Amino acid sequence: MKKWQSKEEFKARVREWAKKIDVDVRVISIRVMKNKWASFAVGSRLLIFNAELLKMEKQLGDYVIVHELLHFAVPNHGRLWKSLMRAHLGDYEMLEAKLNKKSLSR
Ligand SMILES: [Zn+2]
Repeated sequence: MKKWQSKEEFKARVREWAKKIDVDVRVISIRVMKNKWASFAVGSRLLIFNAELLKMEKQLGDYVIVHELLHFAVPNHGRLWKSLMRAHLGDYEMLEAKLNKKSLSR
């Protein structure tokens, strides 16, 4: 189980994915959040991630990163979003299930 070494490593991964998915992200922030893994603002190109993710295995971070980046282009969890998730992450539903187990407040 690989873990993140630092915030910088996590942010670097976000930038890598953003490049791959072709999303223009301006600001990446990692904060303590109570009931979300991440949130984004399309207009200001801002992405905020829950600091809890840094304590988890990298795969789960990847899941949340790709999930949010895809929302810049696809605002829902419909067919297109699902097929893109699968293309980038493979069995993303397994990761989603793992993450949901860790979730405290939803
Ligand atoms: Zn979503």
